[in-house]
Amino acid sequence: MFRKILIANRGEIACRIIRTARKLGIATVAVYSDADRAALHVQMADEAFRLGPAEAARSYLDIAAIIDVCRRSGAEAVHPGYGFLSENPDFVAAVEAAGLVFIGPSASAIRAMGLKDAAKALMEQAGVPVVPGYHGDNQETDFLAAQADAIGYPVLIKARAGGGGKGMRRVERANDFAAALASARREAEASFGDGRVLVEKYMAKPRHIEVQVFGDRHGNVVHLFERDCSAQRRHQKVIEEAPAPGMTAEMREAMGTAAVRAAQAIGYSGAGTVEFIADVSDGLRADRFFFMEMNTRLQVEHPVTEAITGLDLVEWQLRVAAGEPLPKRQAELAIDGWAFEARLYAENPARDFLPSTGRLALFEVPGDVRIDSGVRAGDEITAFYDPMIAKVIAHGADRTEALGRLAGALARCRIAGVTTNAGFLGRLCREPHFSAGDVDTGLIGREAATLLPNPPAGLPVQALAAIAALGLVEPATGDDPWGRLRGFRLWGPSWQAVRLEHEGRELEVRVAAGEGGRFDVAIDDVRMSLALRGTASDGAILADFGNHSLAATIVRDGLQATVFADGEIHVFHAEEMAGLHGEEEAGGDVLAAPMPGVVRLVSVVEGAAVVKGDPLVTMEAMKMELVLAAPRDGTVEAVAVAAGDQVAEGAVLLRLVAEEPE
Ligand code: ADP
Repeated sequence: MFRKILIANRGEIACRIIRTARKLGIATVAVYSDADRAALHVQMADEAFRLGPAEAARSYLDIAAIIDVCRRSGAEAVHPGYGFLSENPDFVAAVEAAGLVFIGPSASAIRAMGLKDAAKALMEQAGVPVVPGYHGDNQETDFLAAQADAIGYPVLIKARAGGGGKGMRRVERANDFAAALASARREAEASFGDGRVLVEKYMAKPRHIEVQVFGDRHGNVVHLFERDCSAQRRHQKVIEEAPAPGMTAEMREAMGTAAVRAAQAIGYSGAGTVEFIADVSDGLRADRFFFMEMNTRLQVEHPVTEAITGLDLVEWQLRVAAGEPLPKRQAELAIDGWAFEARLYAENPARDFLPSTGRLALFEVPGDVRIDSGVRAGDEITAFYDPMIAKVIAHGADRTEALGRLAGALARCRIAGVTTNAGFLGRLCREPHFSAGDVDTGLIGREAATLLPNPPAGLPVQALAAIAALGLVEPATGDDPWGRLRGFRLWGPSWQAVRLEHEGRELEVRVAAGEGGRFDVAIDDVRMSLALRGTASDGAILADFGNHSLAATIVRDGLQATVFADGEIHVFHAEEMAGLHGEEEAGGDVLAAPMPGVVRLVSVVEGAAVVKGDPLVTMEAMKMELVLAAPRDGTVEAVAVAAGDQVAEGAVLLRLVAEEPE
């Protein structure tokens, strides 16, 4: 076995590989870009070396720099993870030329599967069923259009160099073919520098079922059963599971055999995945699955296979790369129960899955399921890399139990600071078709209207968000459960107003804080009273609204307040923070600091005439700017502070000339 390996990757997969290496007593070398200097994988590894700037092309994709680190560190082998250089045959060649071991298949095996058209031709020869279609060299538009007619519409145009759903176009009618072809070519040219395409039959009700295979350097190949990755949004996997719902022993046998044959055809060693598409218009049938492509690396979703087989696939990779035979034979492999993996992303499903960047103000995940992650609270999610934050993996005796565990775990993830897809994942778990195991790749698209948008928060949650945005509760951090209540202070009877943006709506909320965690809140015409009553066992605050109570975790970070309640995540953005005094407290001669902070700006001088609402003093407190406005019309009698002054809570900042009693 190796003494020391280098991990040419970052994030959760680098951390996951380090964990297994450590278990086997192998020293690890991490590499990092400038954006990842303090990343978790750097901290976990025994050694770490800088590669270059944040851009992947100048760091994680820089073959020469990685080989150089191998030399300097004395690593004997390189694990590529997934993505980046994992399926780059030139990288494999460079690693081997440097006298090191690549933990993965040979360069020639990667090349054989690198282009979808060549791979399909090869699989046809090996007797593996392929999707009906044209995957030859002729790229003339008229010729391809004639092929599409022969295949029968709808068809799917795919970039032969494609990946990640790019350069793929579904075409419904002959009339649309030429335009779709041109657009697929453009995207393929831009993404892969190769505009050549293939044309396939588009399956009416497709399921994505893939088979995990493993080969060693002695000619043995086994399969580790299937994974169903049909829950997709625009051809990208969202939740994966193993085994596949409805899979029969006959079909499993047929798919496993085909996958092993595919791997044997290219002399495969290491972990690989043979992806099939199954046409389930008439249910799962052993004669209705077709080879799509082979991924010659460890997949993101490998943990579901680990969960149902009880194996460590990274350990297998390391053993095979070190020349050992496969640890088990086919007959020794069996499925135990059911497993799911959900991919938690920093993205906004309601805004077309726009990636969300920012600092993770809070990152708390449940401890009773497997979580593979490469981040911690306080880490920055940048636009440089994939926005996946964590993978949540749940295992159970059967599908219902495993899915229940997954949904429960997702509901207990407390991630704030970036927008995540956690709410969407939770809704998908509860969606009737999905929970019944009736999934196809079009499901999420059909149910988008109910799955994608976060339901708007109800009034109680809005009230809690306003209280948080105004800084009346402390952020949910720290080990002391009562720390979260320490912020409830008597700020005087004055009302404060805050304008919040929530799921595309603007809310104006006014809050008056009373003693003992009591608050009066006004949202539009609705008035409510609530009391914050301490913390539940998981650290959530219990808010008592008189006739009902709500457990909520509240986080405030800058101008953003996040409320976790009812299994949903509600995000609010405060557009403005103002100590505006409401009608209920007309008057008041004194402007006091609502919390400790620093005076940034005094906008008036003594003697100035002010109108109610005029900004008088701007303070900075808890990373927020607070604009304190005139409580009423009047004249400034005295200004007690200047810019730069540190002020305590309740400090008098400014006094207005007392009003004549009428
Ligand atoms: P990429 O390599 O770009 O990810 P794939 O060939 O793996 O592309 O296909 C991605 C997804 O597109 C599949 O998981 C499936 O949902 C869908 N898909 C691919 N081929 C077909 C087809 N012939 N008919 C229907 N859907 C397909």
